[in-house]
Amino acid sequence: MESIGDVLKKIVDSKYLNQDQAQMREVALQDPHVQEFLSKNQVDQATLERSIDNLILYVQQLNSKSNQRVMAGYQPRLFLNGNVIDVTYTPTQQKQKDDEKAAAARRIELIDLPPKLRHVELEEVDQDPERMKALAEIAHFLAEFDTNKHARGLYLDGNFGVGKTYLLAALANSIARKGTKVIFLHVPSFIASLSSHFEDNSLNDEIDRIASAPVVIFDDIGAETLSEWSRDDVLGVILQKRMDNELPTFFSSNLNLKMLSEHFAQVKNGNNSLKAERLMERVTFLSKEVTVRGENRRHH
Ligand code: ADP
Ligand code: MG
Repeated sequence: MESIGDVLKKIVDSKYLNQDQAQMREVALQDPHVQEFLSKNQVDQATLERSIDNLILYVQQLNSKSNQRVMAGYQPRLFLNGNVIDVTYTPTQQKQKDDEKAAAARRIELIDLPPKLRHVELEEVDQDPERMKALAEIAHFLAEFDTNKHARGLYLDGNFGVGKTYLLAALANSIARKGTKVIFLHVPSFIASLSSHFEDNSLNDEIDRIASAPVVIFDDIGAETLSEWSRDDVLGVILQKRMDNELPTFFSSNLNLKMLSEHFAQVKNGNNSLKAERLMERVTFLSKEVTVRGENRRHH
């Protein structure tokens, strides 16, 4: 098999076939990066002569834009390889950043939410006074999460359009960048689609998966249409397990906690306030309430 270096050399050689060899040699030897390398390494004349082709290749690659290099996103670097100066390739900072970003996005599992939510960055969120409280709580969680994988989550409530989902997307991204997987789930759609799991008996697996995920974000809780069953045997079971295992759990809601309690109690067919209360205990155990204020950003 040909080495990457050999392949690169062929490509560069064919590209520069018509250029004056002597001139290319001069340009390579005058290059400040090459000069610096030669000043830092003991290179005898024979080694230098043996390495001219590599130096020409190096300078040519160095002076190409990152995305026009033979290996896009990689930076050429010289090193002494026995009795010849050779070229190796290391990822550029931009490439490393892009790789980290892509890896983080892969750790976020979206259930019934738009893919763009994978790419919201905490640094991009406006720090206007109205969301500082929520941002501070998010920052506090992230700092604690570094040493405590059982840190308590948040319950972001506030009016429609103030940016609750957006903030939680930024949080998901930051957690994913730390290497932890996050499930980000739109509660109303999830509850509405439960029946799709009946045919293949996959519901218990799905409940277990969500119940045991390292971090789960429940978006728009309180906007779902619940039955007694979906409240107690789906939502209730998931939250109970997360509580038992103290797994970080976040919520966004247009309802404050009191309104959420009423929403849970309004399920058809009676015997509700006690069950609603039990569910509320789990929500409040798992998360701290923070109200997000501000304008409705959906009009912009
Ligand atoms: P909520 O979940 O509170 O109803 P969203 O998070 O969906 O609100 O935000 C409403 C709209 O405003 C979305 O389109 C979102 O992308 C946008 N948005 C929210 N916060 C910001 C922000 N800080 N910068 C830019 N766009 C934002
Ligand atoms: Mg929302």
